[in-house]
Amino acid sequence: MVRRAKRGTGKAIARRGLMLVLSSPSGAGKTTLSRMLLTVERSIELSISVTTRPRRPGEVSGRHYHFIDRKRFDQLVRDDELLEYAEVFGNFYGTPRKPVERALKQGRDVLFDIDWQGTQQMRERARDDLVSVFLLPPSVGELARRLHTRAQDEKKVIRARMAKAADEMSHWAEYDYVVINRDLDRAFSEVRAILAAERLKRERQTGLTAFVRGLQAKL
Ligand code: 5GP
Repeated sequence: MVRRAKRGTGKAIARRGLMLVLSSPSGAGKTTLSRMLLTVERSIELSISVTTRPRRPGEVSGRHYHFIDRKRFDQLVRDDELLEYAEVFGNFYGTPRKPVERALKQGRDVLFDIDWQGTQQMRERARDDLVSVFLLPPSVGELARRLHTRAQDEKKVIRARMAKAADEMSHWAEYDYVVINRDLDRAFSEVRAILAAERLKRERQTGLTAFVRGLQAKL
């Protein structure tokens, strides 16, 4: 059911969008949570990264990633077209700058599925817009189980991911928020609560001055 705003509540206050980074060791449920968020939250969009990694079966160029070669990647770096970039598992990944800047200006939020290296760069370059959330698995056993049920990757790749998980996890303290994914629905509502509170930050609500002036004028 679509609920209409009550008469007199007026238009939403203009705001600047925020950058929501969700990082975790692979297997902690990040992809599932991101998907849920994108389905339910209308004013958030996913940043589509560029990568030099080969496309996996089922992945669609332009939807999961923009798959590009190393030469093109290096060109994007030289042209300062990437907000951040990093090497992960021997491949290069980066965040195209322009779609993000456009969305933020329009008051739309952007969700990023990037690793700790990328988050560090974002923090240096766009601190005020960044909200970072680190997702932890409830236990190592659960992490291993989730990695093994992913049929797409070879055993060798899974082993490398387990090793990387330890490295990734050591960066938890650099994030604004930490969510433990014991229960998917609970973790989801926690991430939504973070988003709701961060959207209400005074400095993000760029239309507040005009709104308050309007209120005062009628007093
Ligand atoms: P995958 O190859 O499994 O899709 O992603 C591997 C890792 O690369 C994940 O931890 C993911 O978060 C990270 N990643 C994906 N895109 C980017 C990006 O644009 N920048 C950075 N720094 N990491 C990324």
